[in-house]
Amino acid sequence: MSKLDFIESELASLKEQGLLINIRTISSPQGPWFVADQKRVLNLCSNNYLGLANDDRLKAAARQALEKYGVGPGAVRTIAGTMTLHLEIERALADFKGAEDTIFLQSGFVANQAVIPALVGPDDVIFSDELNHASIIDGCRLSGAKIVRYAHNDAGSLEEAARAHVGRRRLVVTDGVFSMDGDIAPLPDIVEVAQRHDLITVVDDAHGEGVLGRGGRGIVDHFGLHGRFDVEIGTLSKAFGVVGGYAAGSASLVRWFKQRARPFLFSTGLSPADVAASIAAVRVLQASDELVKRLWDNASYFKAEMRRLGFDTGVSQTPITPVIIGDAVKASELSKRLFSEGVFAQSIGYPTVPRGKARIRVMISAAHSREDLDYGLEKFAKVGRELGVI
Ligand SMILES: *Cc1c(COP(=O)(O)O)cnc(C)c1O
Repeated sequence: MSKLDFIESELASLKEQGLLINIRTISSPQGPWFVADQKRVLNLCSNNYLGLANDDRLKAAARQALEKYGVGPGAVRTIAGTMTLHLEIERALADFKGAEDTIFLQSGFVANQAVIPALVGPDDVIFSDELNHASIIDGCRLSGAKIVRYAHNDAGSLEEAARAHVGRRRLVVTDGVFSMDGDIAPLPDIVEVAQRHDLITVVDDAHGEGVLGRGGRGIVDHFGLHGRFDVEIGTLSKAFGVVGGYAAGSASLVRWFKQRARPFLFSTGLSPADVAASIAAVRVLQASDELVKRLWDNASYFKAEMRRLGFDTGVSQTPITPVIIGDAVKASELSKRLFSEGVFAQSIGYPTVPRGKARIRVMISAAHSREDLDYGLEKFAKVGRELGVI
């Protein structure tokens, strides 16, 4: 017996339960089709909502920045690593989101770790939707505040919790769009409760920007709540097609984050190429809502056809299309058979979704053609029938 024997037995147990994540390797650019594990397949599972990950305009911007500024920022941003490009993306994102200012960080995950502990600490209380993203949960834990979970998307449950738990400062945090089900948080109701109880409000818009609101300006824009949410967290890795994260809010909040957010103080920022590509992505969205419209057309078509075939696509209100299977082994088998038919749609099980709620999560993009979607639908129908799912 060695002290690390538990690892192999845990891995074997995951495999038995159908919960071992099969990580495929992509050897082509992201796009509606790509090469995964040496096979050209229809890509139905990336977060590249608008097809920007391999866009010529973004690549040109990255190339120019690389030539002009080199490959690395050289230091953390508070010492010698804040480049003009970093300030430019912060301004571009603030304009896009209609916020006073933003702080640009390494990722959406990191943005939650940066912001939440800068706002609350051990004497404080956080009210957190029970289905919040792992990065929010970890950000909350890092803060040391008392964490009170409220029922999913239930402002009544939030109200009860706010009545029951007092603290020095209190904060409510929610995903805007829930990434596994595609449902939308009831922000107007949450804002009302927050106002009544004087809660700091934080929303993570990772799956909302580039998707919801005017021209993809996100969930706060979707509900017309500008100025009513204290902090919007975002990512550059999904609809924007690049990598990076940010928090948007008042100028004073952003000044505070730049003094206190630990990932900003202790971890180097993103490279010139990443940042320049991100700026170009924001400009593409500012210039036209054509890609956002195409995304919604594609998603509506695909979802309606999947329902017609008899699949359970859950409660999604966005282009995220969960195909609920239930049993993790079956979901994983469905995903494997789809892959052999030329369709890449990853199965997702516990702990990413609750036990018994395993699913295939289909992500439609603006870059898919109608023929691409029909190809996917045909294969889903074939494999779904073979496995007795529909
Ligand atoms: C994807 C996601 C993140 C993480 O974003 P990255 O930029 O990939 O780190 C954070 N929050 C939510 C709600 C997400 O869906």
